[in-house]
Amino acid sequence: MTTPDAALTRLVQGFERFRAAYFETDHSLFDQLVWEGQRPQVMVVGCCDSRADPHMITDSGPGDLFVIRNVAALVPPYMPDGRLAGVSAALEFGVKGLEVGHIVVLGHAMCGGVRSLMEYGDADPRFEFMGRWVGLLAEAREEVRSLVTEAEPALLARYAERASVLVSLRNLMTYPWIAERVAADRLALHGWYFDFTWGVLMAAESPHGPFRQIDAAGLPRAAVGGCHDRR
Ligand SMILES: [Zn+2]
Repeated sequence: MTTPDAALTRLVQGFERFRAAYFETDHSLFDQLVWEGQRPQVMVVGCCDSRADPHMITDSGPGDLFVIRNVAALVPPYMPDGRLAGVSAALEFGVKGLEVGHIVVLGHAMCGGVRSLMEYGDADPRFEFMGRWVGLLAEAREEVRSLVTEAEPALLARYAERASVLVSLRNLMTYPWIAERVAADRLALHGWYFDFTWGVLMAAESPHGPFRQIDAAGLPRAAVGGCHDRR
């Protein structure tokens, strides 16, 4: 087990390598990002999980992705009731402010949030906030529990993780300013799933699935809205 100090030292060493790459010899990229501002074309809603970092797994650089991360890569439904809404605020900034052309909901294998959902629903006794949060994915839980199957628990967990991506994907369409842009072909919505038990990336073919493995030569159409190469 790494001591906390060693873990932090590694972070600062990492920053020094980053600084050397982007500021010491060629700082043109950050000069551009400073003077022109950020113009990411893609927003990603990912999970907090340390194994499923959207930047890392897509080999993206500074300015490429506008990222929202939370437990289970969850998009709550549109709830304009005045409560604090961190995800909705970030969605709004990305869609209205930055005018991204794509939103990718990025789920992943072995998700602790989805496992909590499947085991405890909206009342995980171990945590104060988790249950209510992942409870927003109750639809995915019901879908999996309704399956008459002898499948292994691990397979059902993978199914639940993908079903959760689809719930968030459908929830995106409850935001009127997202639905408007999708209808006008200015925004496309994608449901992706990173299975790091196999090292594959999958995409939903529609807001109700199924998921298929993807590669750069065989990108599917967006699950909702325009086509993948529109921007
Ligand atoms: Zn997760």
